Amino acid sequence: MKVVLENLTKIFPSRDKKAGKEVVAVNDFNFEIPDGKLIGLLGPSGCGKSTTLYMISGLQKPTSGKIFFGDDDVTELSTENRGIGLVFQNYALYPHMTVKQNILFPLQNLKGKDKLPKQEMLERAYEAARLVQIDDLMDRKPSELSGGQQQRVAIARALVKMPRVLLLDEPLSNLDARLRLQTREEIRRIQKETGITTVFVTHDQEEAMSISDMIVVMKLGVVQQIGAPQDVYDDPGNLFVAKFLGTPPINVLEGTVQDGKVYIGEDAVLNITGVEDQDVYIGIRPEGLEPAADGALVCHLNSLEVMGRDSSVVCTNEASLNPVIRAIINSDIKIDAASDVVRFDVKPHKFFLFNKETEERIRYEVN
Ligand code: ADP
Ligand code: MG
Repeated sequence: MKVVLENLTKIFPSRDKKAGKEVVAVNDFNFEIPDGKLIGLLGPSGCGKSTTLYMISGLQKPTSGKIFFGDDDVTELSTENRGIGLVFQNYALYPHMTVKQNILFPLQNLKGKDKLPKQEMLERAYEAARLVQIDDLMDRKPSELSGGQQQRVAIARALVKMPRVLLLDEPLSNLDARLRLQTREEIRRIQKETGITTVFVTHDQEEAMSISDMIVVMKLGVVQQIGAPQDVYDDPGNLFVAKFLGTPPINVLEGTVQDGKVYIGEDAVLNITGVEDQDVYIGIRPEGLEPAADGALVCHLNSLEVMGRDSSVVCTNEASLNPVIRAIINSDIKIDAASDVVRFDVKPHKFFLFNKETEERIRYEVN
């Protein structure tokens, strides 16, 4: 089921009528979520991810704009009638019910022509439980389960009605690191097996990058960029997106374009064409810095962290906006850790320029 968001906007009135300003939680969101894909909705806390999800679910009504499931306009449809499955960060299971009763609950609530025979309800519940691998825990109470198991029950409960769209709001945030990894792989597997169009909300860029077919990066209610995770990483449209994706984060420096050269301080680090002389922000991915004896960018070497296959070169440069510059290099490349200075060449496809005022990307050609 494809999901279309058309000029979707949500404005919350100010709580304090005199002083407060209204909040534009989601601002003119347009996107066609392709059928059967998993979309990662990504951005810092408060950027409007949950509000977007709640509008898709029907829990919140848009201030303006429309939502379509397939060709059906569902904007005015109630949550119960949208055919969605919802999973929240806090599993929200009924504590006094067993796992089985929790999963059965949405089916028992079906009315009229949707009502199912008891046997079919049970079969469906067990099928959903098998999908998330908790079918041996059906008689337990939520308090007798680990966090990861509880979240699986919540997912099974969302799947049991065979939703047209699955909506997950930070479903892994309450799990410890290892369970988070395991459960996100599970979610990916289940999503692929069922083919249900899924929107997965998270503030964790690594999580979104690792399981999404496409990511949507938001900031202050405004969509910044939409694309396949690797494409967005390789080709960020602005400084915010460049900074939000990647660990360790992108190195950001101040620089200048002059006469076809990009300068960092006194160092001319790259020859380019197609850009007028101006001050710029420069983003260099940690894997975009290559140590070289005669490298153009000169940095002060702080330390060398060897971590098996890769090493992290930690250094400083006056033009850097981050406290340190990090280069991730293959550990086979030898660096003199006792030296004060380390020199780098830059890889042009890992080296981005941004307008100093708008922070939009400036495209260039290498010559
Ligand atoms: P996220 O899920 O990305 O952290 P939210 O969608 O929850 O962000 O919130 C987006 C913005 O809308 C925030 O500034 C938040 O304070 C505001 N907001 C969310 N819900 C309400 C509400 N019910 N009333 C007023 N403001 C709200
Ligand atoms: Mg949220």
